[in-house]
Amino acid sequence: MEAKDTARLELSEEQMRDYGYKVVDAIVEHHLNQHKKKPVAQASREEMDSLLREHAPEAPTSADEVFDTVMEKVMPFTNIMSHPKFYSFVPGPSNYVSAMADALATGFNVFSGGWAASPAAAELEIITINWLLSLYGFPKKRGGGIFTSGGSMANLTALITARNIKCGDDFSKAVIYLSDQAHSSNIKAIRVMGFRKEQIRLIPTDIEFKFAINKLKNAINKDRLAGWKPFCLLASAGTTNTGTVDQLTELAAIAKAEDLWFHIDGAYGGAAILAKNGKQLLKGVEKADSLTVDPHKWFYQPYEMGCLLVRNHKWLSGTFTEVPEYLKDVEGNSSEINFYDHGIQLTRRFRALKFYMSIKTFGLKAFREAVQYNFDLCEKVESILRKSKKWEVVSPATLAVINFRYNPIDQNLSEQELDALNTKISEGVVNSREAMLVTTILNGQTVLRMCLINPRTTLADVEETIALCESMAE
Ligand SMILES: *Cc1c(COP(=O)(O)O)cnc(C)c1O
Repeated sequence: MEAKDTARLELSEEQMRDYGYKVVDAIVEHHLNQHKKKPVAQASREEMDSLLREHAPEAPTSADEVFDTVMEKVMPFTNIMSHPKFYSFVPGPSNYVSAMADALATGFNVFSGGWAASPAAAELEIITINWLLSLYGFPKKRGGGIFTSGGSMANLTALITARNIKCGDDFSKAVIYLSDQAHSSNIKAIRVMGFRKEQIRLIPTDIEFKFAINKLKNAINKDRLAGWKPFCLLASAGTTNTGTVDQLTELAAIAKAEDLWFHIDGAYGGAAILAKNGKQLLKGVEKADSLTVDPHKWFYQPYEMGCLLVRNHKWLSGTFTEVPEYLKDVEGNSSEINFYDHGIQLTRRFRALKFYMSIKTFGLKAFREAVQYNFDLCEKVESILRKSKKWEVVSPATLAVINFRYNPIDQNLSEQELDALNTKISEGVVNSREAMLVTTILNGQTVLRMCLINPRTTLADVEETIALCESMAE
């Protein structure tokens, strides 16, 4: 028996080649010209509906026509996270080699779940995880890790592991500590895991936005007296707001003394280890039981790619191994890792490939230079803002993040006026679509936040954006 021609979902060889070349051409064109496009997309649900909404079509449309529709009506309505003037949230600079690696991984539809299914995919994940383990000073032999869809999944995977190792099945009295600057994905993970609100301690931060250590110690003592079971301390290595790194060495000592799991969320900031002063700032990171880093942020990988590293790979397999009958035959020996036993997903895409190909192609040195460039650019921007009489630096350049506000010395504006003015500046800039620059709130003040992790952003780009802000202010 043979499926009908149309039921095989195939194109002819010639069509496949033409189609592939068109896709590559479109990606290359985007890569070369993205800086000339507007980084901000704006469209309402009504507008998008009127462009795209239709019933699932029974009849075919030519591949070229569908492709053209997508290039006209879909791609232009997405923010360009890799644009040199995309400063907000955490940009996604990405790189072309990794994008092509993703195309290969998808084109071959590699199943990256178990050793037997693709020994090479598992091997590349082991190798690239080892590169990261050694970068962070984690134990070479015992250490382990897994690539995930992103930082949120890496944090969830870490906290499930922490709970399993520290609490086993009974976590009714377990308590977790994190600062009020920790990323929201951690709270989401804790809630997903079924913890009640009263099991979460949000510890205030000091004026530098770091863990208030005394408040943490007091909270742990108080909880023990009240019969709670402290089990996990979660630090940030690069808070998303200000780039602040918590006092990792001090917190590690507290975790050790109190027998707490020590998780570090370095989703965006972890890559700072590649720069000279970043390595200094991240001192103590090697003491974590588990560490989240997000290659799809500052390791310049395209979405989706997060990573969890652990000091002992057995913690992951001990937490996530479930062997149903139909997987018994494909288990392999203990050095042949089945990554489905190290995390939540069974079917997994081949994420390691892009990391491997981009690091091999450019060399780690190029990545170090890129991260160092980001550090230097942010510090240069700080010094320019400090010299100006119009701008106030609210939180200094830290891990390539800077927060500042428009506050001309000669105008004596009230806090309320300043908040309103800076909100207006941001709205003006975003609505112009020339740059993505939104506000955040620090100590109750509305400030502009720039995350400068794109190595293609130039000082001239930032100066143009600051000039645009000034024109909006006036
Ligand atoms: C971005 C970020 C996350 C979430 O990662 P996703 O990849 O978006 O899921 C978690 N923690 C920190 C500190 C982050 O910056």
